[in-house]
Amino acid sequence: MRLLVHQVNVPLTYDDPTILQRVSRKIGCDPDCLANPKIVRRSLDARARNPEPVYALTVEVDFNLPTLPPSATSPAVEIMTDPTEDEHLSTRLRSLSETGVRPVVVGAGPAGLMAAYKLAIAGARPLLIERGDDAEGRGPKVAQFWNDGILDPESNVLYGEGGAGLFSDGKLTARSKERGRIRDFMQLLHACGAHENVLIDAEPHVGSDALLTIVPRLRERIIAAGGEVRFRSRLEAIISEAGQLRAIVVNGQEIACTHCVLAVGHSARDVYEMLAERGVALQPKPFAVGVRLEIPQSAIDRAQYGRFAGSPLLGAASFRLTRREEDGVRSCYSFCMCPGGKVISCSSEPGLLTTNGMSYSKRSLPLGNAAFLVPVGPSDYPEHAIPSLAGVEFQRKLERDAFAAAGGGYKVPAARLVDFLAKVISPTLPEGGSCPYAVPVEFRNILPEFVTHTLERAIPPMLNELYGVKVKDAVLYAPETRSSSPLWITRNPEGDSVNTRGLYPAGEGAGYAGGIVSSAIDGMRAAENLLKTL
Ligand SMILES: Cc1cc2nc3c(=O)[nH]c(=O)nc-3n(C[C@H](O)[C@H](O)[C@H](O)COP(=O)(O)OP(=O)(O)OC[C@H]3O[C@@H](n4cnc5c(N)ncnc54)[C@H](O)[C@@H]3O)c2cc1C
Repeated sequence: MRLLVHQVNVPLTYDDPTILQRVSRKIGCDPDCLANPKIVRRSLDARARNPEPVYALTVEVDFNLPTLPPSATSPAVEIMTDPTEDEHLSTRLRSLSETGVRPVVVGAGPAGLMAAYKLAIAGARPLLIERGDDAEGRGPKVAQFWNDGILDPESNVLYGEGGAGLFSDGKLTARSKERGRIRDFMQLLHACGAHENVLIDAEPHVGSDALLTIVPRLRERIIAAGGEVRFRSRLEAIISEAGQLRAIVVNGQEIACTHCVLAVGHSARDVYEMLAERGVALQPKPFAVGVRLEIPQSAIDRAQYGRFAGSPLLGAASFRLTRREEDGVRSCYSFCMCPGGKVISCSSEPGLLTTNGMSYSKRSLPLGNAAFLVPVGPSDYPEHAIPSLAGVEFQRKLERDAFAAAGGGYKVPAARLVDFLAKVISPTLPEGGSCPYAVPVEFRNILPEFVTHTLERAIPPMLNELYGVKVKDAVLYAPETRSSSPLWITRNPEGDSVNTRGLYPAGEGAGYAGGIVSSAIDGMRAAENLLKTL
């Protein structure tokens, strides 16, 4: 029989015999009764109270006796059943080449790429259109933006193959319970060149440099399976009749289309406006805005790993901090932590600017950063003729004010945390910050008072939780405005728009996902839903 054994603690330098020995202890059997261990999950436990850092593994292993010892009946040991086909797996295998219907996927971010891949391997020959350049072509555009302040509004940090996830931290955090789809996604990434750690780590990370080679290989697979990919192809309009999608307009040309996965991400505000004009159902959604905070990675490592800090086996440490609402001050939480990474500027519209964080696969840069966000909702911003677009206008205002406050040229507004708290602006920023095009700015000219007030009250006690991290070492960058979508494109339980049949909004832009993994699996789900109707 094959067993699944959880919570198998091993030293960081483990090998198969060590794993078998630890599993045998857990089960209460001789190591000789066990064979063929396979790690299916691995999480690091480097808490200072441990005698040494360990990995907690979940391991599959063959057990060569007919029955388990009584000591092995805890929930930590499961007998594995034969794998049955998941529903999504059987959908994937349905061949659709006979139908002659060609679905279109709009957007080549994680959601669109995975939707197109699913449709392609099912035989549906999808057309994938993307407004920006291919991954290879994006690099020079992004370098030009960061170095010279020249924005290509169609191909930039947020637009182009790989979507917003390409120049990102590339952490593949998955909070969803959809294990089948997550496993399929990780296996595909691995097949396209991601390190095998993505198959087992509880919090896998790939890094922007690795994504630049993985994404083109994924595109090649879509094409090899019968899909077509067109870059520099922007969806301008959709045409529907009697609540059914009939066609789309791409670069001025009408394309007949009754089934479309719309995976445009939440930066595509022009698409939201076009959908609103055409009466597609949208709903306002709460989101969050704030700042990005940068501190020395060595201090984060010491706070998290204690005396184990500096071990080359541990990698750069991460953190998650939250502060509850109190005394009229809103809640605040850290988001999208990028260990050993850098702070970057992003824009997809001329004269607007937002911040974010990214890292490379080694996460070896000297500073770590994370967003510190304050929740906002429709009651916080001015009304709009189309209520679902009020949040979009609110984001735009903060981004426009940030661009202006930093003097244009897509420089990033920044402030030492101590200056922000004391409401002063130093003429310079500390040497060695990760964002060379940052300039000192008063954030109260950019962010609303309720946000700056919350950040003033929340950040110092939150940093206190990271023992040894000093307020004086922290630098803030602003504004963080695009942590999640400000609206939902309302969907039926079958996954298409509630009033435009055949239009399948997917990923972060639809408002139903946030992050690379959840967007990717939402794209897969959209493709499966679409396939059911063909
Ligand atoms: C700098 C940065 C770092 C991040 N780091 C992480 C991280 O470490 N981990 C994580 O999980 N998440 C991270 N995120 C968030 C993550 O990237 C997004 O959640 C994810 O990319 C959303 O996927 P998506 O496919 O829904 O949308 P997107 O990735 O936004 O992709 C949408 C695509 O649609 C295209 N498009 C838009 N409009 C049109 C149109 N009209 N016609 C044709 N194409 C169009 C765009 O060009 C884009 O390529 C980061 C984001 C940024 C910006």
